[in-house]
Amino acid sequence: MIVVRTAREMALWSERYRAAGLSVGFVPTMGALHEGHVSLLLRARDECERVVASIFVNPTQFGPGEDLAAYPSTPDEDLRAASEAGADLLFLGSPPDMYPEGYQTWVTVEGLTRPLCGAVRPGHFRGVTTVVAQLLHLVRPHRAYFGLKDYQQALAIERMARDLHLDVEIVKCPTVREADGLAMSSRNVYLGARARAAAPRIYRALVDLRDLARRGDDRVEALRLRLVESLAADDDLQVEYAEVLDADTLEEFPDGTVPPGASILAAVAARVGTARLIDNIVVPASSRHRGRSEGGGCRRGRS
Ligand code: AMP
Repeated sequence: MIVVRTAREMALWSERYRAAGLSVGFVPTMGALHEGHVSLLLRARDECERVVASIFVNPTQFGPGEDLAAYPSTPDEDLRAASEAGADLLFLGSPPDMYPEGYQTWVTVEGLTRPLCGAVRPGHFRGVTTVVAQLLHLVRPHRAYFGLKDYQQALAIERMARDLHLDVEIVKCPTVREADGLAMSSRNVYLGARARAAAPRIYRALVDLRDLARRGDDRVEALRLRLVESLAADDDLQVEYAEVLDADTLEEFPDGTVPPGASILAAVAARVGTARLIDNIVVPASSRHRGRSEGGGCRRGRS
């Protein structure tokens, strides 16, 4: 695996790959790699002739008082994990190179970044879309892989790529979880024993809501309350938001009812101990309708 440390060198490698007619897959990360990241690399490995990974803890997506300085860093393990997962090239970005003195160009996606994390982390998505736009220009991949654990981020990046006519396919990949349901995250290392025991209860609450939706309940407030009540009853979880939105637009459902053809996104951000965790679940329209045609309240046959 080749390791490059400057934007210029990265651009030269992309040029080389393109000139050789090779398809390039790209997996941007902030490092402290875990199985979630590895799943994206393996998918890229499957689908592309060259795989580029990047590690860059992007300062512009952290707000004041957030965990930029403390963000986990495991550089030796990351090199091994990226190489074992089949990356051909690892780009290690640095702040002075990505944001040279006098830097003043930003990319913002509007509507999709307004709710959820956008509402509680002002400037966060501006940092994300800006750095991803830079990385896509440097790496020039044919496909770029993003995890649905960061659902809002994946949608915003997909929108940005479409709006800016970037010639890249954004591939959205499923959330990889621990055996007890906790979504894998670099930030899980912040969890002490008690917080670690509590953290999977976020996913359990999301699954509960999904079951209710699958049984045919289409009342937004009933679904949201199911989520909020099970989380609020838990002393170890401080909920920042718990929302039920249209999974395609991230807008609220008008009239308080989920229309038949719509998919539901249920999304949660919560503090657990010192960690801030996010998770979500999507209930596709097809699975809701199956629930309904099977006769509403019937619990049998749940997956
Ligand atoms: P991060 O290093 O946390 O910025 O994440 C880099 C990429 O990995 C993003 O596209 C994330 O959505 C994705 N990712 C992080 N955790 C997971 C997970 N548990 N399952 C799948 N993808 C993930």
